[in-house]
Amino acid sequence: MTDAAIESRGATFTGNRGLELEEPLLFEVGHPDKSGVDLAEPASFQSRLGGMERQSPIGLAGLSEPEAMRHYVRLSQKNYSIDSGLYPLGSCTMKHNPRLNEKMARLPGFADIHPLQPESTVQGALALMDLLSKWLIELTGTAAIALSPKAGAHGELCGMIAIKTAHAAHGRDRSVVLVPESAHGTNPATAALLGYDVRTIPARDDGRVSVSAVRNVLADDVVGLMLTNPNTCGLFEGEIVEIAEAIHEAGAYFYCDGANFNAIVGKARPGDLGIDAMHLNLHKTFSTPHGGGGPGSGPVVFSKALAPYAPLPRIVRDGDTYRLLETAASTGKEGAGEAFGRLTAFHGQMGMFVRAMSYMLSHGSDGLRQASEDAVLNANYVRASLKDLMSQPYGDQICMHEVLFDDQFLNDTGVTTLDFAKALIDEGYHPMTIYFPLVAHGAMLVEPTESESRASLDLFISTMRELCREALDGNQKKFQDAPVYTPRRRLDETQAARNPVLRWRDKTQAQAAE
Ligand SMILES: *Cc1c(COP(=O)(O)O)cnc(C)c1O
Repeated sequence: MTDAAIESRGATFTGNRGLELEEPLLFEVGHPDKSGVDLAEPASFQSRLGGMERQSPIGLAGLSEPEAMRHYVRLSQKNYSIDSGLYPLGSCTMKHNPRLNEKMARLPGFADIHPLQPESTVQGALALMDLLSKWLIELTGTAAIALSPKAGAHGELCGMIAIKTAHAAHGRDRSVVLVPESAHGTNPATAALLGYDVRTIPARDDGRVSVSAVRNVLADDVVGLMLTNPNTCGLFEGEIVEIAEAIHEAGAYFYCDGANFNAIVGKARPGDLGIDAMHLNLHKTFSTPHGGGGPGSGPVVFSKALAPYAPLPRIVRDGDTYRLLETAASTGKEGAGEAFGRLTAFHGQMGMFVRAMSYMLSHGSDGLRQASEDAVLNANYVRASLKDLMSQPYGDQICMHEVLFDDQFLNDTGVTTLDFAKALIDEGYHPMTIYFPLVAHGAMLVEPTESESRASLDLFISTMRELCREALDGNQKKFQDAPVYTPRRRLDETQAARNPVLRWRDKTQAQAAE
């Protein structure tokens, strides 16, 4: 830390700052001889490891119960979360996770069941999965669904395997996936994972993909197109219907990245626009928690053409009974699920299905539509309130649920997009998405979501305007020093990525090795 920074932080004897406590590593707090539990010495026993047993102590940090408790609680308090403040991370849809969802997911009939339980004992869970499937199929205007994918990227893999399977079933040998230059990195990564080559489609001057650009790169080696709609610039792909037609004429399939579905739920059905497969991030659009709050969940919907190539399991209803079709033979239908097989060992993220269903039922169809409208309204409120100070790469046009700025307004200020984001941390905000999408120079992608109040948006906008003014007034140093109010300041991100030190070594060990 520089002297100036220490001064501005106000150094303390403990290193603590007010009620925000410094937290050493577990190994630095604990001691191998210490234990939080009182275990009796084990009786002598005959080893069956044939001399392979560990000779030296395992070296785990021993802690008392209060020490362990404080360690993890302090760490948890260092996390910024949607429960602590506005989280304008574009493309990620960090919306509020309603507590009602949590309550429903903890009902013992959902929380305490096991995937290998007999079907007759989990009829309620299967009914919920069936209802969720119906709602998602209805909202997307599609024909079939796979609930098992565990995240958006996993959903992409699921959809693209279905497409690969369909081509194989038709005896077509193809090798190229079309991906626009604004795509999320997971799109080309998914194509590459399946052994396909990626052909990039350039964006038009207004940030969208044109049907002519797609036609220019279409050939009989094309497997399909992966397109995000609304796209990662926060814009609706106006030529999507013509693009779908062109793709289908070439005997290829249309994979839609549905991560931005939050903008159009109840307004437009991707199936009606001609898509063949699309993942839904339940942890974005349908309010289930992200990351540390819970696992992701990325169900995939399929068009009629692709439905026979969707994975198992499927849920069917026989009168009042629900059944899980888990093997090709059990489907009783020639070809159904046989070609793909299974994607995962079990049936998907049950807890997230309950949360998403709870969200949908509590909103109703009119409420879901209003959530999309409010998300778009909020993003446009931010855009309209900042457009006189911040630059937009494709001119000032109405956006969907997120607004994209670039760094042109910072030209000649010596402040970069990264500096700007770090200054936002000092103001108590998680920064917006930066440097993505790659098509915009120094991109800043802001997604407020529908869960923010007018007052919360106004404070964020005033903060952004103040930072803009300080950058334009030449207060470069403030930005370069930021963040100054965080427990740690700027990390060497390149070093951390290139040379990660993932294993703790105590100082004496480290010295001995040197
Ligand atoms: C979030 C996102 C993904 C990946 O979803 P995960 O659930 O994080 O795997 C893919 N594409 C876009 C546009 C996204 O925003």
